[in-house]
Amino acid sequence: MTQDFSPILEAKGIVKTLGAGAAQVQALKGVNFDLMPGELTLLMGPSGSGKTTLLSILGCILTPTDGSVQIAGRSTEGLNAEGMADLRRRHVGFVFQAYNLVPTLTAIENVMLALDLRGVSLSDAPDLAAEALEAVGLSHRADASPSKMSGGAKQRVAIARALAGSPSVILADEPTAALDAQNGMAVMELLAEVAKDTGRGVLAVTHDHRTLEYADRIIRIEDGRIVGRARRRDGEMTEAPSVSWGTAAPAEVRHASVIA
Ligand code: ADP
Ligand code: MG
Repeated sequence: MTQDFSPILEAKGIVKTLGAGAAQVQALKGVNFDLMPGELTLLMGPSGSGKTTLLSILGCILTPTDGSVQIAGRSTEGLNAEGMADLRRRHVGFVFQAYNLVPTLTAIENVMLALDLRGVSLSDAPDLAAEALEAVGLSHRADASPSKMSGGAKQRVAIARALAGSPSVILADEPTAALDAQNGMAVMELLAEVAKDTGRGVLAVTHDHRTLEYADRIIRIEDGRIVGRARRRDGEMTEAPSVSWGTAAPAEVRHASVIA
């Protein structure tokens, strides 16, 4: 696949104020962010640092207080709720920590439901859903109910659901947090594969440093601001030297000295 070096998603100067009155919180304080097609970017940062808020804004669920998002060349600026929903349906697939599958539907029905919400016709949905399940290695469980599946399998169904309908970007909020180490790694590997094989931009929130090996880029957010960026170059992670990644950062990130 030819690599396109322009971002599939761009966020500029994102500010988000949440809550009201004395409880008001500035969850994001001016975030600039590019997501590249064909790459897996990991978003890391402490609890409450603004990760979920950022994903919600990038995925057109929340409107920023200030700043703009552009997905596949279309800006959210000036869009009303219906315009935001349309952009989201066309271009964004979400994956959540808790899978969020409909328990009364089979795996393939869960994927078909997502296709229906994206406006895909009922006659096209079965084939597209089967393709998505094949992409995550679950063709043989198409007719199984999520309640009969392991956490790892459920998250693969959720990834198939996010993939179905060919959105430009996949946003995954702590997709491995409820999984054991082995299944967590497998899910992250699958997300990296999805990015590479299909040319989508994939952004995943994670706390697990073992999954860093699958990342093309890593962004670190603290208190509503991006405080670190690293990218893989010739197989090694690079880092802006002035950036603190915290003591929990892996050696290859802490010790690298090349500017990303
Ligand atoms: P993370 O996903 O990194 O844990 P969040 O984006 O969920 O962080 O939250 C960022 C900040 O915004 C936190 O201080 C959180 O308490 C606050 N926050 C999140 N949602 C709301 C809300 N609906 N109303 C008020 N404050 C909120
Ligand atoms: Mg969160």
